[in-house]
Amino acid sequence: MRNRIRSADALHAWLNPTTEEKEGIEGTKGVFQWSITPYYASLMDPDDPSCAVRRQVVPLASELELDFVGVEDPLEEVAHSPVKNLIHNYRDRVAFCVTSQCAIYCRYCLRKRMVGEADFMMRKDELREAITYIAAHPEIRDVLLTGGDPLTLGDANIDWILTELRAIEHVDIIRIGSRMPVKLPQRITPELCAVLEKHHPVWVNTHFNHPKELTPDAGVAIDRLLKAGVPVGNQTVLLRGINDDAATMRALCEGLVRHRIRPYYLYQAQLIGGTAHLRTSIETGLHIMHELQGHLTGFAIPKYVLDTPLGKIPLTRDYILGRDGDRVVMKSTRGAVWAEPNPRPARSLPSEEGSDASPGIQLNEVVSPPGTQTISMETGQLSVL
Ligand SMILES: *Cc1c(COP(=O)(O)O)cnc(C)c1O
Ligand code: SF4
Repeated sequence: MRNRIRSADALHAWLNPTTEEKEGIEGTKGVFQWSITPYYASLMDPDDPSCAVRRQVVPLASELELDFVGVEDPLEEVAHSPVKNLIHNYRDRVAFCVTSQCAIYCRYCLRKRMVGEADFMMRKDELREAITYIAAHPEIRDVLLTGGDPLTLGDANIDWILTELRAIEHVDIIRIGSRMPVKLPQRITPELCAVLEKHHPVWVNTHFNHPKELTPDAGVAIDRLLKAGVPVGNQTVLLRGINDDAATMRALCEGLVRHRIRPYYLYQAQLIGGTAHLRTSIETGLHIMHELQGHLTGFAIPKYVLDTPLGKIPLTRDYILGRDGDRVVMKSTRGAVWAEPNPRPARSLPSEEGSDASPGIQLNEVVSPPGTQTISMETGQLSVL
């Protein structure tokens, strides 16, 4: 953590930044956080700016381009937080942002404008306030520790939070969402695992996006968690030019289950300001899912979902109504209709074999029914059509 790369000069030890990268590093100063662990930097290809590891963490000038539908808080997490950093959007479970810190700052992060920021940090009394809220709400049986990255906290603090939560009788499972096995696998020490093991059932959900990240070091971290009895799942964000093709996604899923990690979610990238260049079309995601289904071990296939203020929506034919121009219209699991701004793909998608004869996935045109909720393409605000 102490040796993290935080300047263009330090990055030079690992690669020669391109002009776009240099502009990104300079231009995003004070706008978005930036740091890379030496371990994660060692996975970057120094000669190839399109490297899937490099593109996740090195800022680009494109992050500063005008992005009309990009918003700060597309899931309305702040509105769903009864107390600071505790998001209660589902009856029986909460997402508890216990810290704002991360070891690396991913360029596409859902909480891009909050991570690493002072306003989003948690003092001990604020943590206590959130724990008190959980204790006062017997319907909460599942607590998801997130952030930032909860494993940036020291073992003693993690132990304290887990002890407090375990003392609440109605808290059934505790989950930790952490990217440490990917960006700093050395953090998964035997001491940390001994802490987690004391508070079972504790689950860890990690966040591999590309097969290159499944290194022997990451394997050691995962093995330690599993040996401590912690089931490990994975969520991936679908990112343009990084993992938005069926071959990469299949290799990732195969690699995950080889490490006994269960692929859980494949997230459609959120409409976060400054991430337009990393988002891909929902048709591309559907195409990838189509290529995985039937060609991969059943439990190696993640669920493709879109998170919205109306909750997560499975991106399948059961929920997607179709396309209304530059929006994809879908039913939420709570009955309301959501229209996600998502430009149609530039060309029809080729089949895996590249044969032009086989058509790509196409969504039928629909008209959004009155009352459809969406993010306004003009103002970037949440609105009703
Ligand atoms: C995703 C999410 C959860 C957990 O949802 P699962 O589908 O149970 O994994 C909980 N709270 C919030 C706010 C979420 O976004
Ligand atoms: S590790 Fe997670 S929370 Fe931290 S910057 Fe990356 S995506 Fe965001």
